[in-house]
Order: sequence, then C-alpha cells, then structure tokens
Amino acid sequence: MINELDIVGYLSSPPPSTEEVGRILTKSMQLERLTIGEVASLLLVDDEVLLSDIFNTARRVKELIYGRRVVIFAPLYISNLCANECLYCAFRASNRSAVRRALTQDEIASETTALLKTGQKRILLVAGESYPKEGLDYVFNAIDTVYGVRDGKNNIRRLNVNLAPLEVDQFKRLKDKQIGTYQLFQETYHLPTYKKMHVGGPKANYEYRLTAIGRAFMAGIEDVGIGVLFGLYDYKYEVLALMSHIDSLENEFGMGPHTISIPRMEPASGSDVSTHPPYPVNDMDFKKIIAILRLAVPYTGIILSTRENAAMRLEALELGVSQISAGSRTSPGGYSNDKSEAQFSLGDHRPLDEVIVDVCKSGHIPSFCTGCYRTGRTGLDFMEQAKPGAIKMKCAPNAVYTFQEYLDDFGTTATLGVGQKIISDEVASMPEKLRNKVESTLQRVKQGERDIYV
Ligand code: SAM
Ligand code: SF4
Repeated sequence: MINELDIVGYLSSPPPSTEEVGRILTKSMQLERLTIGEVASLLLVDDEVLLSDIFNTARRVKELIYGRRVVIFAPLYISNLCANECLYCAFRASNRSAVRRALTQDEIASETTALLKTGQKRILLVAGESYPKEGLDYVFNAIDTVYGVRDGKNNIRRLNVNLAPLEVDQFKRLKDKQIGTYQLFQETYHLPTYKKMHVGGPKANYEYRLTAIGRAFMAGIEDVGIGVLFGLYDYKYEVLALMSHIDSLENEFGMGPHTISIPRMEPASGSDVSTHPPYPVNDMDFKKIIAILRLAVPYTGIILSTRENAAMRLEALELGVSQISAGSRTSPGGYSNDKSEAQFSLGDHRPLDEVIVDVCKSGHIPSFCTGCYRTGRTGLDFMEQAKPGAIKMKCAPNAVYTFQEYLDDFGTTATLGVGQKIISDEVASMPEKLRNKVESTLQRVKQGERDIYV
C-alpha cells in the first residue's frame, strides 16, 4: 500500500521549474485532485516566490470550495486507560505517574452538559486503547450517553470518534450508533519509525492499523478521517505516504477520507520524544503542509486542533483548514475541572467564546453545522456534491443558521457585535435567490426555531 522506494524516488528529484509549479497550480485552480508526483513537486519547492504562489492558490481554492465557514467542535476524552506504548503520549501504559481514569456514564453525561453549556454541538469522542470491564461496550454506551443528554433545548447533534482500530463486525456496531466520522491516524507511515515509536501493545502492529480504514469502509462507515502525527519523521515523506494511502483507498473502495488531521507533536508528561521530536516541523513547513494538502485533495476537510496556538490557527484557516476544535480539554473529566492526566499540552487554552471572536474578526463564519451527515450527504455523495463547489450552497446557509443559534443562545457582549456583522456580511454575499431564502429562514431562527439545516 505504501511503497517506500517510490516515495524516496520522488523526493530525490530536483526541485520543479517555475513552469511546472505554474502548471500544477493552474490545475489546482480547476479544483482537480493532484497526483503523487505533483504533490512531491510542490513539497520540493523552497523558492520564496513560488512558495507564496502555492499559499495564494491554496487560499483561493479554500475559498472556492468552503467559502468563509469554519466548522467548530470539541474533543471529549472519556478515558485515558491505555495498553499501548506510544513513546510520545502521556497515556502510554508505562507512564506510572499519570493519574488514570475512565469516566462513568454519569460523568460522561456531565462532561457533555458542560460542553453544551458553552454552545458546542459537535463532539469528537476520544479514548485510549484499553476499556473498563465492559470492553468495547463501554464506548458504545458512552455514545448513547452523549446523544441522550439534553440541556434545555440543546443536544449534541453529531458525534465523531477517534478510537483504536476495530474488526469489521465491531465497526458495524459503531456505525449503528450513528457516529459521524471514524478517525484514525497512522501517526507515521514510515515503518522503521513506526516500530521505534510504538514499542508495546496492540498498536505496535503497523499493518493492522494501516488496514483499519478499509475495514471501516467494509462495515459501511462512509466518513473516515486519517492523519499523521507531524514530528515523528520527515514531513515530506509523510505527506506523500498519506497521498498514497488515499490513492489506495480510492482504488479499492471508490472513495477517500472525509477529513485529514494534521496534529503536530506537543509536549506530553514524561515523554522525551514529545519534547524533542526526531523531525520537528517548523511553522513555515507546517503552513506548507496545510497549503499543499488543500491543493492535493481539495474536497477533503482538513482539521486543526488546539495543539496549535491562536496565531497559527488563524493562518491555517486562510491556507486550507476547514474544521477546528475550540475550548478543548484533553483529560477525561477536563470540562468538569477534574485533575486526571491530559494527553498533551495545548497551544490554545482559550474558551470557545474567545476563539469565536477571533475567528469572526478574521472574516470567517463559525459553523456548528451537522447538515451533511444528517441529510445523508456522506461518503461518495458528499464528494460528488463538494466537487463543483456546490457544497458551499449548503455550507454557507447552514453556517448562518447554526451561528445565529449560537449567538442567540450563548452570545456575550464580545461575540454578539462581531458575530452579527459576520452573519450579515455572509448573507449579503450570497446570490439573490439564495439570499432571499436564507433571510427568511434566518427570521425563523431568530424567533426561536432550532436545528434548521439544508
Ligand atoms: N488511542 C487512540 C489512538 O492512538 O489511535 C485514539 C486516541 S489518541 C488519544 C489521538 C491522537 O493523539 C493520536 O492518534 C496521536 O496522533 C495524538 N497524540 C498523541 N500524543 C501526542 C502528542 N504528544 N502531541 C500531539 N498529538 C499527540
Ligand atoms: Fe494510547 Fe493512543 Fe496515547 Fe498511543 S496515542 S498511548 S494508543 S492513547
């Protein structure tokens, strides 16, 4: 699936000519997916002028497909028990100093309520790879718990999961729980590095992890997310291997991932690897990764977490990131101020409210939309609709409705001013027919109707 020699071959080529970069960027502007060879060429660019051409094209592609909307979510860590030995993670089994806990179902409900009270509607459920005595049922029950919580008229409308690899029949049970996206990061595609970094537990099996996304597809889960933990190995190698992973999924299953996550290594308690990553990625290269991924797979969402600081998060939004987490805690019980071990330290500690102000000031409209998943625009169907840029006709109205809900139900003096302005600007920029429709629906939201989506 991942051919190391091919990748090394691409990366030992000379940097591309100005003409070649121009040709690739013209292709990108047609919103065409790039080949691995083309992605390799862009990765090899280090000329400043060409790099700024790449960044500018990524900005335009991002705008063409996604408009100014940014989807917001929060992670919910239910347990930090783990049987694995990932050298970069505070949850690894041998980290004896870590305060361990698996939340009870009541505690999971309290955490969900705490998130609902801040205005969140989308959750990413996260756990280490070791479950309390109920086994995997613990996770399935947690999903039911989260979906079952009501706080006034608010509830979680979409729950994605980031969980260890499963068997096909287990994935089928996960799908039956109405999850949105199943996420799993390969961490590093470079086998020798993978072996060095995963020294114990089931995760030490590289192949089993690599083939998990295929098993999720086989089980009928159509929205999957993949990712790389940047800092473990050469980022150029990782991006090409990621592309190769996408190619093989498309060849075998007719569709690629719904999202790509780009975590960058952050310090984790008791982990030397996390404080001294073997291949640290600097800010410039990180931006290059985001821009190139945006050009390479224009219809795939790119997710950025609160590992990054506020300034980087704003730049990343311009270059291609389409979803961000906000107001996050990475310890089980963190939203209720419990003191268990966090997975890693955060670059952005701000509450959701503050992030919203910043996002609006940068000219983006925060979105709590869950429309695609609930109208069945998933998997191939989503890709088809996203391709000609049509998703924007759905994303923009849904962003307007869900953000108006947020402002009406959770707005503060800080968010209301900038927020209402962004909504007005967004509506004003719509073509007339759509604008008329959105304006009348927006009135219904303002009068208290909730959960309207197209
Ligand atoms: N335990 C499951 C697994 O490893 O697939 C799922 C959840 S794990 C808590 C989520 C992700 O956190 C991992 O896939 C890894 O990429 C990321 N992670 C772990 N340690 C990290 C660190 N020190 N800095 C940044 N991200 C980290
Ligand atoms: Fe466990 Fe996941 Fe952390 Fe590895 S990255 S130690 S599997 S929680």
